[in-house]
Amino acid sequence: MRIDVLTIFPNMFQGPLQESILKKAQEKGIITVNTVDIRSFSEDKHKRVDDYPFGGGVGMVMKPEPIFAAWEAVHGSVPSAKTRTILLCPQGEVFSQRKAEELAELDHLILICGHYEGVDERVRDHLVDEELSIGDYILTGGELPAMVVIDAVARLLPGVLGTYSSAEQDSFSDGLLEYPQYTRPREFRGWQVPEVLLSGNHRQISIWRRQQSLLRTKKRRPDLLKSAQLSAEDLELLNKTE
Ligand code: SAM
Repeated sequence: MRIDVLTIFPNMFQGPLQESILKKAQEKGIITVNTVDIRSFSEDKHKRVDDYPFGGGVGMVMKPEPIFAAWEAVHGSVPSAKTRTILLCPQGEVFSQRKAEELAELDHLILICGHYEGVDERVRDHLVDEELSIGDYILTGGELPAMVVIDAVARLLPGVLGTYSSAEQDSFSDGLLEYPQYTRPREFRGWQVPEVLLSGNHRQISIWRRQQSLLRTKKRRPDLLKSAQLSAEDLELLNKTE
């Protein structure tokens, strides 16, 4: 997958992309992340990328010309790719694991990071396929949201995590929160690891994990149960604990 990020702060991506799993994914050639400095496409002699809003009001708005020019420089860079152009925006659809799975099927993402009061509406209307928000709060720019999207999508690509199953069992993957996890030591400050996890009985462990997952979801995120795929046993367990 190739990801082009249109930004006025390309250096912000250096740290997060140069560590850990994202670094390895790039080294293995599974993803290529290319930051594109919108400012370098400004034809203004001072390289300005923003201007005052028509109609007055506070703040500045990102101009359309350098964003369109930056997009035109990268769109089509992956021949016959399934490309999607995404504007990071607090007014967009809230990003989710489902959306990450959908984006992981594509070959090419173009992420546009806004700043100031946001981008000229013509970018939204004529360039962007969809808008994504990472939550109901306002950040200073789209760079951190873009990193969130890159991280969540990259870890779903085959070969990025050590074993692909570790992504499949994560919270939200099957519509539920993940069960509690334990590691050595068996006893820490008098607190024991649940006996079943030490039993070696894989069937019992699997039943216990499913139950914990259901109970945890019911307690913390009951909204998720409405769309989760639940068996008759799952429903029985949930009803019993009412
Ligand atoms: N005035 C805009 C509004 O009320 O919708 C907010 C602009 S915000 C200060 C600047 C930029 O940060 C946005 O254009 C967007 O790219 C990014 N941004 C801020 N919060 C975000 C969020 N929750 N999700 C995604 N992007 C966000």
